[in-house]
Amino acid sequence: MSQWQVNQGLQIAIDGPSGSGKGTIAALIGSELALPVLDTGLLYRYVGWRAEEKNVSLDDENAVLSMLDDAIHGMVWKPEGIYLREGNVEKDCTSSLRSENAGARASKVAAMPQVRVALLDVQRDIAKLGCVMDGRDIGTVVLPDAQAKFYLTASQRERARRRWSQLKAKGEDADLDRIAAELRERDERDTGRDCAPLEKAVDAIHIDSTIMTMDDVVERILNVLQRRKLMKGTDE
Ligand code: C5P
Repeated sequence: MSQWQVNQGLQIAIDGPSGSGKGTIAALIGSELALPVLDTGLLYRYVGWRAEEKNVSLDDENAVLSMLDDAIHGMVWKPEGIYLREGNVEKDCTSSLRSENAGARASKVAAMPQVRVALLDVQRDIAKLGCVMDGRDIGTVVLPDAQAKFYLTASQRERARRRWSQLKAKGEDADLDRIAAELRERDERDTGRDCAPLEKAVDAIHIDSTIMTMDDVVERILNVLQRRKLMKGTDE
């Protein structure tokens, strides 16, 4: 049980570039406050992955849009991951969605405005009863009225180094320079697109985690929530 009591329907938005640690932070905050966590990147990863499964080229936007309704219809979000529903069977596809390839594909479908619109309701629906949500446009577009917004960054080199050590820890062959180049490309696509680009909401608190531990970042966020009276200790 959480030692915190949060305000009913509390929505916490955490945005930032790839590798900024927002997924880890969102998971830690969610478990500390007993709130559901939605990693919105997984939704875009799912659309890109589903297109691949259906042999749909991401260079053909119309083809992606024609498989979109079916894809979203078959997608089931659970706090533990994303499932594909086919008939009565639900298949957990979360681990396939975590690959570097799925990330690169996600950033391509995420630049398609109709894909973003189609995923908007899915995200708002999940957020209704309160949640921690991480992504690129949560504070600006998806949950503009979220009571707490954070914009998490770290230097590009540090983000590449974090990604590299995650892959190494999984026993995968990883090249730091190649990861840094891919990250740069993804940053450019995410910040440069016309529709819902990655940017800090005016009312978001910027946290640069380059030289902070994840625990430091969590503590900083919990302090803000307490100070704004969005939560309190169960013994207070
Ligand atoms: O966060 P993650 O690396 O899983 O996101 C994959 C891609 O999905 C990002 O590079 C970005 O292009 C896209 N994305 C987005 N908006 C979000 C979450 C992810 O455009 N809210």
